[in-house]
Amino acid sequence: MGRRSRARGEGTPREGRAPREERRAPGGRRRRERLGREAPGAVLGGPPIAVTCECGEKRDLRYGDAWTCESCGRRWDTSHIPREQYEVVRRTQLRFRVLPVALGLLVAALAIFFTLTGNVFSVFFLLPVALSVWFVFLRPMHRKRYRAAIADLPRWELHPE
Ligand SMILES: [Zn+2]
Repeated sequence: MGRRSRARGEGTPREGRAPREERRAPGGRRRRERLGREAPGAVLGGPPIAVTCECGEKRDLRYGDAWTCESCGRRWDTSHIPREQYEVVRRTQLRFRVLPVALGLLVAALAIFFTLTGNVFSVFFLLPVALSVWFVFLRPMHRKRYRAAIADLPRWELHPE
């Protein structure tokens, strides 16, 4: 597969002209620790954009935010990223969050149903089974698909102002 139009420069410092801007894959390890401490509403606001300055400084920005690098003073403005492209990223992230949430709600609804119908034994059966199925089968599969989807998403090249 070709390079398409995305800028990356994976690891290799490229000509030093334009900065690399990477979106961190939500399926990746870095991204996962972020999931836990996301600000409320961050899901609807979309994933953060990881900007790497030419001097090596890094910063996560929300779409539309501008940042002036502390060490070299270059200014980066994420609103230069085309809205549609960012939307694709945002939608992909949302789409993949639907499954875990839907499953959680389903299991919770079943647990409530069994409890209300006096079938408490089934709840004790349901929860461990649901959790193991999720962690052993569904979650790895889900994350793999997510990573594949994320890999196809664009990366952008910004220019300092
Ligand atoms: Zn800098």
